[in-house]
Amino acid sequence: MTHLLHRSIHASLPVAVRGEGIHLFDATGKAYIDASGGAAVSCLGHAHPDVLAALHAQLDRIAYAHTGFFTTEVAEELADRLVDDAPEGLDHVYLVSGGSEAVEAALKMARQYFVEKGEPQRRHIIARRQSYHGNTLGALATGGNEWRRAQFKPLLIETHHIDPCYAYRLQMPDESDEAYAARAAGELEAKILKLGADQVIAFVAETVVGATAGAVPPVADYLKRIRAICDKYGVLLILDEVMCGMGRTGTLHACEQDGVSPDIVTIAKGLGGGYQPVGAVLLSKRIFDAFALGSGFFQHGHTYMGHPMAAAAGLAVQTILKRDGLLGNVRAMGNHLETCLVERLGNHRHVGDIRGRGLFRGVELVKDRATKKPFDAGLKLNARIKKEAMTRGLMVYPMGGTIDGQNGDHVLLAPPFIVGKSDVEAIVERLADAI
Ligand code: PMP
Repeated sequence: MTHLLHRSIHASLPVAVRGEGIHLFDATGKAYIDASGGAAVSCLGHAHPDVLAALHAQLDRIAYAHTGFFTTEVAEELADRLVDDAPEGLDHVYLVSGGSEAVEAALKMARQYFVEKGEPQRRHIIARRQSYHGNTLGALATGGNEWRRAQFKPLLIETHHIDPCYAYRLQMPDESDEAYAARAAGELEAKILKLGADQVIAFVAETVVGATAGAVPPVADYLKRIRAICDKYGVLLILDEVMCGMGRTGTLHACEQDGVSPDIVTIAKGLGGGYQPVGAVLLSKRIFDAFALGSGFFQHGHTYMGHPMAAAAGLAVQTILKRDGLLGNVRAMGNHLETCLVERLGNHRHVGDIRGRGLFRGVELVKDRATKKPFDAGLKLNARIKKEAMTRGLMVYPMGGTIDGQNGDHVLLAPPFIVGKSDVEAIVERLADAI
């Protein structure tokens, strides 16, 4: 293996040669249950015949047409579909090639919106600690994990971070959900006021926090309070659903469960199910109209945006999701996954928390359940669990840095939406064994 990735930390990775359903197979023929969906990507599993047929048909028709010259039927159809199914009030879409591109576009849309509106003084972005929004410079500046950002400073945009809504660690023992939601959302208002009520562009948050914290959902009312604070100060609300969106939590958009419509939503990963790199930004009419009345267009673009093959993958995956009623399976199997995790690991002396929504579940590991003290980061517990799971033919997504970006360990589970009961049981059994 000579490419850059495999020359670095991943020198000893197995070679994946084939995928089928919920399994990947390596060069020795060993099967792995894809219980992480890669990174919450493979929502229909691997080699789905109907997606392959749609891709072959698209390849026969047209593989590429630059969006400066043409639109394509397939890109228009995907755009219509995404707008039809978007959270209330979001009626425009911008197609890109992945999650970081979607976040970059969202940040620029928010900035341009205020410039067109005659409020160019707004220049601050507020986001949350323990968030991941991508690895390109703007998205990196927005993400809240200090260790990812440190060596690239100064970053290109000014971002400010508040605490996430993280009940397991930040809610006080005798604090109700309502009180905690008010306190956690209150941090946003305090930060806006500190920066200046008319100085902030947007608040960016993952609806359910994924890679950095292990499927941490907000407590009830948190996002409603956030929405109200954003409205009070004219700040845009950007929800990053690159990982938790497109059905992963049991509703197409995770924020539907919080009764909140943001101004902008970013989606990717499960949108194309891994069959092609594709992402999108959903935005409101008022943002779109500001571009239309100002410069006339959103000043952005990438060579591969709206790519017909990517659009074909997105359209096929989203069509199958509906046709096969898979959101119902995400909810049913998500509940079963939670039950199995609680039964098998709920009393484990190193399991501190089991959480999540739908087929997006996290297990937080601690040295001491009573004090919630984490394991020493030097132990690299999460990397060891990943290795032990791979030995047992299981792909899970363990990460470190749950508490402060440095300490704490969690395992994220994000299996394909097509899993059945016995698959879920096998996943939990192998995970428990690995732990
Ligand atoms: N936002 C979130 C919430 C993510 O989880 C990710 C990827 N893990 C990204 C953005 C970046 O997506 P990509 O890796 O496709 O650039």
